[in-house]
Formats: sequence, structure tokens, C-alpha cells
Amino acid sequence: MKVIDHINQAKDTLISFEILPPLKGKTINSIYDHLDPLMEFKPAYINVTYHRSEHVFKKKADGTFDKVEVRKRPGTVGICAAIMNHYKVDAVPHLICGGFNKRETEDALIDLNFIGVDNVLVLRGDAAKNETVFEPETGGNRYALDLLKQVMHLNNGIYLEEDIRDGFRTNFCIGVAGYPEKHFEAPNLQTDMAYLKAKVDSGAEYVVTQMFFDNQKYFDFVKSCRDAGITIPIIPGLKPITTKKQLTVIPRTFNVDIPTEFSNEISKCKSDVEVEQVGTEWMLQQSKELKAAGVPVLHYYTLGKPKVIYNCVKQIL
Ligand code: FAD
Repeated sequence: MKVIDHINQAKDTLISFEILPPLKGKTINSIYDHLDPLMEFKPAYINVTYHRSEHVFKKKADGTFDKVEVRKRPGTVGICAAIMNHYKVDAVPHLICGGFNKRETEDALIDLNFIGVDNVLVLRGDAAKNETVFEPETGGNRYALDLLKQVMHLNNGIYLEEDIRDGFRTNFCIGVAGYPEKHFEAPNLQTDMAYLKAKVDSGAEYVVTQMFFDNQKYFDFVKSCRDAGITIPIIPGLKPITTKKQLTVIPRTFNVDIPTEFSNEISKCKSDVEVEQVGTEWMLQQSKELKAAGVPVLHYYTLGKPKVIYNCVKQIL
């Protein structure tokens, strides 16, 4: 079932979770171990992130280095199939531009359609680890907007091979990312908003936000979206802070602010066990306020912290 249908049919705020594929070498059981306790909350759907391959240097016996391509977290498509089969819950794979040409993307979309996936969250992806700016693959998509248009083409039966006539029309519901505190590369909020509007005008049916720790940033973002003529649901993305190190890593990596009151509380903690308690409580208060404001879905980035998410969600349902 499509995410947009889940939202339209819901009588109350829905819950969704986002997970990472396990590192190569682990089994699907690590996903089940992660999700099993969270299934008590009957999530409407589960997102599975996508990770491009990266280049690493491996030392050879003669002391020189070989540049090799490794993909540390493969398996997004397989995990989606496993989740739908095991839990009977919709899976939402993330699809990125980075590292893929359009042909590979089209083949991935065909696989997703064949296994019964109805949704994709389309994203650009970040620059490869060895690059300072994002560079698309040769023959790949540069912006999430271009990838979205490719999915829309397939939804209209238009394939890359021009000689396919009357091609099967997929029916993917497409979500996109939005940034209440602006995307780190955007010169300002207005430009970023204009590109978000372009994604919506081209067929996106809902927006999932980057994490934020001050709900006012989300409320202001929703207002700016409405003022810009974006009327689709805007789903808040929530992530817990669980270590002191994240106080500097999160703002640097995601271009988001941590409110003074929250950062002061974290700074006072004597251990990461205490930080986790403070972080869970903060996310709980954010969740309660967002739910009271009638947001369509509370989307939790579980990212290896299912216990923290569990402790929060059990107090809001
Ligand atoms: P875009 O919408 O393409 O925007 C990227 C930048 O380009 C922005 O600054 C925008 O303002 C600008 N821009 C957009 N269109 C144009 C244009 N036509 N001309 C000029 N500038 C333009 N990354 C992963 O690798 N895997 C994941 O699974 C993943 N999941 C995510 C889930 C969520 C909910 C979020 C919020 C992010 C996720 N990311 C993931 C990270 C995401 O890929 C990065 O934030 C990336 O840098 C931007 O992606 P985007 O889809 O917002 O890009």
C-alpha cells in the first residue's frame, strides 16, 4: 500500500521507522532483532536506507596500495522483500542518484515493482567519501528531481529503451526529502524551497524532513512550504541524541542546530548512559508536541538505537 494512502486513511498520527541495511557479513536476523520489539507499535511502513559503494585503499604485500570499490551496506531491495514477507508491513526503499547510472536505477525499480514495493523515497545522496562535492555517475541522475522524473517516467510506462512500446506502468508513490534548517549546500532557505517545490510539482506525494531538535523549526518550515504552495503531507523525521560526541558531529554533518537548553543538559551529563536518558526525554517531548499538533506521521530514524526509540514511542501511544 502507498504511504500516501496510509496517511489519507489514518484517523490519528502514524508511526514509521527507518533502518539501515546491516554491514556486509551480517545476516537478515540482525534486521529482525532490531525491528522485532518495535513492531509492537504497528508501524504503517518501514524505510530502508540506500548506501553507495566507496573507494578504499588496501595495502598489498609489496607495501603499495590498491584502490578498491567496496559496498559496506548492500541489500536494500532484499531487506524490503524480507520485511514485507516477515512482518506484512510496507517497506519504503530509499533510492539515490549517487553511484548509479539511469539503467541500473531502472533495473532496480523493475526489481522493486516485481517484489511488490509500492513506494520509493527519492534522494540525491551525498558526495562519495573521496569527493568534496557530489558528482553523478556517468549516465546517472544529478539531482533528486531528475531521479524523481525517471520514476515518474516508469509510472507512465516510459522506459529508457525507446523501442519498448506499451511498457508496464509502475505505480510508485514517491516521497522526497525536505530540510527545515535548509540543505547544507543551498545558499538560502528560499532557493532550497524552490527546488523542493519543483520536486512536488513533478510528482512527489509527501516530504520527509531532515532531523531537527527544535519543533519550531519544523512548524516554520511547514508554514513556508504552505506559503510556497506545497500542500502535500510533511512528515517530521526524529533522531535521538545518545552520545556527547553527537553534540558536534550532528550539527557538522547534517547542518542542524541543537537548542541551547538541550545542549546544556547534555553537557552536564557524566556519561553517555545519562546522555541517552536526556536524549530520549527530549525526543519524547518533541514527539508529544508534534502529535498534539496533528502531524501525519512520526518518522523515527532508528539507526542502531531501537531501545531508545522503543522507550520513547511506548510513552506516546
Ligand atoms: P536534492 O533535492 O537533489 O538537493 C540537493 C541540493 O541541490 C540542495 O542544496 C538543493 O537546494 C539543490 N538543488 C536541488 N535541485 C537543484 C537544481 N535543479 N539545480 C541546482 N540546485 C539544486 N542519503 C543516502 O545516501 N542514502 C539514504 O538512504 C538517505 N536517506 C535520507 C533520508 C532522509 C529523510 C533525508 C532528509 C536525507 C537522506 N539522505 C540519504 C541524505 C541525502 O541524500 C542528502 O541530504 C543529500 O545531500 C541531498 O539529497 P536530496 O534528495 O535532498 O537532494
